[in-house]
Amino acid sequence: MSLDLSEKNAVLFDMDGVLYDSMPHHVAAWTRTFADFGMHMEPCDVYMNEGCTGSYTISKVSLEQRGREATAQEIEDIYAHKAEIFRTLPEVEIMKGALELMAGVRESGRKILIVTGSGQKNLISRVLRDFDGFIVREHMVTAFDVKRGKPFPDPYLKGLELAGVSASHAVVVENAPLGIRAGVAAGIDVIAVNTGPLPDSVLLDEKPAALFHSVGELADYWKSETVQGR
Ligand code: CA
Repeated sequence: MSLDLSEKNAVLFDMDGVLYDSMPHHVAAWTRTFADFGMHMEPCDVYMNEGCTGSYTISKVSLEQRGREATAQEIEDIYAHKAEIFRTLPEVEIMKGALELMAGVRESGRKILIVTGSGQKNLISRVLRDFDGFIVREHMVTAFDVKRGKPFPDPYLKGLELAGVSASHAVVVENAPLGIRAGVAAGIDVIAVNTGPLPDSVLLDEKPAALFHSVGELADYWKSETVQGR
């Protein structure tokens, strides 16, 4: 694996499936929501679509299954329903290794940003509490900050702007195929962490610079690399 961290001044973290073990909740919420609205979504489709904004996912499924785009009102209603189901589920856990990784990144002097397609307000406010000392609101890009979400490069381009660094001086940490695609499209080296059920090949197809099998594994690697690099 050839991942040179020496020139990287900022780390842009995805949130769901990287900082939080929240994907099983999203699977439960999306599958139930689409069923409630007379459509359907398989769990693996939730993982394949992960990273996109809710409105992008809803439009896509509506077009595929109903032969028409969802209206703005439908998108709002369906997403509100999904967010409500998500809210009623038990609180999601911080991903194992995420705090250690954040500590390692901070200790090595890099800027920390979060770039998420999420519009889940409760989780966005929680991240500021859980990762207090590592992340500030001004260093977060959410579904509310860009018109086009992942897989477009826009959220990561916005992240670079907030970090004040060029693409070559940043690195992205992502778990989803379309999230990796967004980072690569922004010209940034992407570290993939395969924390879900998809085969590695699906993530590797999107051409990340490196792949780890857990956030803890990446935290250990980060520690060894930045210690060696001193
Ligand atoms: Ca994710």
